[in-house]
Amino acid sequence: MGWLARIIGRPAKPVEHGRAAQVFLTNTLSGTKELFIPLKPGIVTMYSCGPTVYSRAHIGNLRAYVFSDTIARTLAMAGYRVRRVINITDVGHLVGDGDEGVDKMAVGASREQTTPEAIAERYTKLFIDDIGELHVDPSDILFPHATEYIKEQIALAKTLEEKGFAYRLSDGLYFDTEKFPGYGKLGGVSRAHLEAGARVEVVAGKRHPADFVLWRAAKPNDLQQWDSPWGRGNPGWHIECSAMIRSLLGQEIDIHTGGEDHISVHHNNEIAQSEAASGRQFVRYWMHSAFLTMGGEKASKSLGNVVYLSDVVDKGFHPLALRYFFLQAHYRTPLSFSWDALAAAGSALDRLWKLSLEIAEESRSISEPSEVRDNFLATMRDDLATPQALAALWDALRSEEYTPEEKWGLIETADAHLGLSLLTPPKSDGLTLEEMPSEMQDMLARREAARNSKDFAEADRLRTAIEERGYRVDDGPEGPVLTRKTL
Ligand code: AMP
Ligand code: ZN
Repeated sequence: MGWLARIIGRPAKPVEHGRAAQVFLTNTLSGTKELFIPLKPGIVTMYSCGPTVYSRAHIGNLRAYVFSDTIARTLAMAGYRVRRVINITDVGHLVGDGDEGVDKMAVGASREQTTPEAIAERYTKLFIDDIGELHVDPSDILFPHATEYIKEQIALAKTLEEKGFAYRLSDGLYFDTEKFPGYGKLGGVSRAHLEAGARVEVVAGKRHPADFVLWRAAKPNDLQQWDSPWGRGNPGWHIECSAMIRSLLGQEIDIHTGGEDHISVHHNNEIAQSEAASGRQFVRYWMHSAFLTMGGEKASKSLGNVVYLSDVVDKGFHPLALRYFFLQAHYRTPLSFSWDALAAAGSALDRLWKLSLEIAEESRSISEPSEVRDNFLATMRDDLATPQALAALWDALRSEEYTPEEKWGLIETADAHLGLSLLTPPKSDGLTLEEMPSEMQDMLARREAARNSKDFAEADRLRTAIEERGYRVDDGPEGPVLTRKTL
């Protein structure tokens, strides 16, 4: 029995005879790691709360989507067909979790002197580009826009009203949490606690601080408003996810993901709406990723401590350096960002790419199964233990114990799970001779000459001089490659 099997008490070799292998996931609903059992054999329905497209997603947001992508890849590799949805919030919900604050889409539109529609289009494209750069394949995902599902949101709110779960106030329709026993079951948030911690009630007539808006009556200057049984207005934030899930994936789904900040309010409200309407369990496995922090604080736009993928690229990092950086931490562990830590991840990934190229050559890209590959699979299937999986990958690739073909088999499996381009490491990062500053061209040529005449001391001296100018030399199969150092 392998080490992992001893810990979790199951055979190390997953069962893969034409059916999906076992995967264990931590479910926020139970607070424990559970064996994943889908509603329908072989199929997974999965929803991830998406961005509000009023500005660019920051790298904290992006962590949440690399996390859901890792779930999807792991389940797909275990033999499931994964149906994924990430919603695009293009309706201007309010900045806070509660029912107060300013409308984000209006903020974006006024900042850029344009319409909410133009803002939504711009930032949806940037979001999809950003996740694509991080190897989250957009063609595998459905991206419904909230504004395309207004009818469905109204229908769901109407159902809740008809079933007695809602009440009308002059400024909109509210969900009555009193009527939904078990409100707050996700993460153990009690209504009483919400009451104790609530700020001064900002919506006159709200019966309980936990009650939340399903449909908000339009204010005179609202840029986005629609007709509804409750007059002109716009939908509440939470109803958007419940309605789109119901329309696109069904009344009950397998997996719902989001950042941990969504547990207490947004996801408990989604549960209340969906379960009150259907009378059935809404989501079987709730999964949440921990924060990306900056200097000890959550990265967030309102704190102003955010970094964007464009900053990462501008500093000369490959976008996948960020993906590698995310994967070095388990998704349930907060991850502290620094440029030094990203640089370390970037150079580890460079080394991994180099190693992969060497093994591709040695093995002629022929793969063979091995115990180390099975252990890698078991590690990923044990609640997506990416730090351990990366460590196992490094150990195996450096070890003499495995043949090049076994190592290549492991690389193939690892790449399918981790999405790090290990099979085709990018070469474009290296500068062509013409792109280099002439001083660098000169030094590189002198270093080559020194190497050819076996003057290694001079070659090393030139390498150091090149590095001191912010460049790095790697001796690839097709000669030296010069790269701008990332920091
Ligand atoms: P939002 O646009 O604020 O709804 O965020 C989109 C996703 O990013 C949600 O799943 C959030 O939980 C997640 N998120 C926001 N800030 C962070 C952060 N600093 N670290 C990790 N995830 C975050
Ligand atoms: Zn949501």
